[in-house]
Amino acid sequence: MSKKHVVVIGSGFAGLSVATHLAGESCSVTLLEKNETPGGRARKFEHQGFVFDMGPSWYWMPDVFEDYFARFGKKPSDYYDLIRLDPSYAVIYGEQEVLDIPANMDEFKAMLDRIEPGAGKQLDLFLEQAKYKYEVGIHDLVKRPSRSLLEFASPGLLVDMVKMDIFQSMSKHVCKFFKSEQIIRLMEFPVLFLGETAENIPALYSLMNYADIALGTWYPKKGMHEIIRGMVSLAEEKGVEIRYGSEVEEIEVEKGIAKRVRLISGEKIEADIVIAGADYHHVDKHLLNPNYSNYSEEYWDKRVMAPSSLLFYLGIDKKLKNLRHHNLFFDEPLGPHADAIYKNPRWPEKPLFYASVPSITDPTVAPEGKENMFLLIPLAPDLEDSEEMREKYYHIIMDRLEKITGQDVRSHVIYKRSYAHSDFKSDYHAFKGNAYGLANTLLQTAILKPSLKNKKVKNLYYTGQLTVPGPGVPPSLISGQVVAKEVIKENNL
Ligand SMILES: Cc1cc2nc3c(=O)[nH]c(=O)nc-3n(C[C@H](O)[C@H](O)[C@H](O)COP(=O)(O)OP(=O)(O)OC[C@H]3O[C@@H](n4cnc5c(N)ncnc54)[C@H](O)[C@@H]3O)c2cc1C
Repeated sequence: MSKKHVVVIGSGFAGLSVATHLAGESCSVTLLEKNETPGGRARKFEHQGFVFDMGPSWYWMPDVFEDYFARFGKKPSDYYDLIRLDPSYAVIYGEQEVLDIPANMDEFKAMLDRIEPGAGKQLDLFLEQAKYKYEVGIHDLVKRPSRSLLEFASPGLLVDMVKMDIFQSMSKHVCKFFKSEQIIRLMEFPVLFLGETAENIPALYSLMNYADIALGTWYPKKGMHEIIRGMVSLAEEKGVEIRYGSEVEEIEVEKGIAKRVRLISGEKIEADIVIAGADYHHVDKHLLNPNYSNYSEEYWDKRVMAPSSLLFYLGIDKKLKNLRHHNLFFDEPLGPHADAIYKNPRWPEKPLFYASVPSITDPTVAPEGKENMFLLIPLAPDLEDSEEMREKYYHIIMDRLEKITGQDVRSHVIYKRSYAHSDFKSDYHAFKGNAYGLANTLLQTAILKPSLKNKKVKNLYYTGQLTVPGPGVPPSLISGQVVAKEVIKENNL
C-alpha cells in the first residue's frame, strides 16, 4: 500500500501531536506553520538574555505529558527537566493577605484549617471525588472523539457521569464543602483555566483541583517552550517534515474531497488527508469555500469564547521581593471583572491579574541579577485594543503590584513588550482575538463542541483547543491523539 500524504496546518501542541502520531509506515506528514518558529500560542522569544514564554506558564497534569512521550517510547526527561514548585503559587488577597500554597498535602490541609477549622478534613472528601473525576475524565472521557451520543451510552459510563456532577455548577459544588470566602476563591481558581467562571463550569471540573493540589505545579527548566522543543525533535525523529513561514490560504476541495492546500506564496501541496490545527473558525470560514464550512457565522457568534488577554513581557534590572514564581492577584472582587469578560464585554474597572516571575526558579531565563516577569489580565474577546488602553492597564496593575509587594518596579523595567487581541489575531488568526479557545461550559462540552471532522469534506479533520476536548496544553496534546486515532480508523491506516 502506498503511503498516504497527510498535511497538518499549525505547529501548536495539537498540530505537533497529531502529526507525530500519524508519521510512520503508512503516512508521510507535512506540517505547515505560518510563523517562523513552532509552538503557536506556546512560542518563546528572546531579548538580550531574557527568554520569554509567550503563552502557557502552568505545567499541570504531568501524567498527560508522560503518556504522550511514552507512546513513542520516550519520557519527558529525554527532552526537559521538571521541577516541582513549592510553594505551588501565591494567592494575594490584599497587602497583608498573601497565601503561599504549599506543595505538601499535610501543610496544605494545615493552611486550610487555619483559615476555616475543619476545612482540612473537608478537603479529603472534596479531593476523593475530584480524584475519581480526574481518573475517569482525563484517562477516559477526554479521549473520546465525541462524534455521537452513542459513545457515551454504556450503563457504567452513565452512572459515572451522574457521579461526576456534570449538571451541577462548580461554585455550588465548592460551597458544599467550604464556607470561607478565601478557600472558596482558592478552590474556584483552577476552573478559570477552562475559560469561564465557576458558576458556569460543571462540577465535573473539580478534577482540576485534583491536578492542582494532588499532582502539583511543575516547571520545565528553561521554560515551557522546552516542551515544544521536545515535541518538535520527536516529530522530526518520526519523519514529520515541518515547514515554517508557510501560511495556508486555501484548502482546495473537489467533489467533497480535500485535494490540496494552497499557500500564500501560491505553492500548492497535494494531500490525501488534511488536518487543521489552526484556529477552527479561521479554517472553517477563511480557508474553505463557504459551501464546505462546518458551521455558520451565526453559530460561531453564539459560542462562548474563553477570554483573550492583555500580556506584558518585562525585563527588570534588579531582583524582586515578595513575589513567587506564580502570583494570583485576587485583591479585587472577581464578580465585576467576570461581568466585564462574559456578560457585558468591556475593559474591566478593577482587573484581577496574574504575575509570573520564572527567573525566581530558573536563572537561565534572565541575565544575572535581573528578573523576567510576565503579567496577564484576562479580558473579553473582541474588545477594541489600542496602545493607550494597554498603557492605561499597565499602570493600573503596576500601581497595585508595587503597593502590595512594597517596591518600585516600573523604573527598573529595561524591556517591555505588550501583547493583546490584535496580536492574537495577526499571529494566530484567533477568532475575536481569543487566547484560550472555547470555554468549557456544559453546553460546549463533548458532542456539543465543534466537531473534529468536517461533515461535507470526507478527508478534512480539525484538532486543537477549539474542538474536543478543550482549551489548555494537556487537552490540546490529547486532541491531537484523539484525531490521529480517528484518522487511522476511518482511513484503514
Ligand atoms: C497567554 C496564554 C496563557 C496560557 N496559559 C496556559 C497555562 O498556563 N497552562 C495551560 O495548560 N494552557 C495555557 N494556555 C492555553 C494553551 O496555551 C493553549 O490551549 C494551547 O497552546 C493551544 O494549542 P493549539 O495547538 O490548539 O493552538 P495554537 O497554539 O494556536 O496553534 C495553532 C497554530 O496554527 C498556526 N496557524 C494559524 N493559521 C494558520 C495558517 N493559515 N497556516 C498555517 N499555520 C497557521 C498558528 O500560527 C499556530 O502556530 C495559555 C494560552 C495563552 C494564550
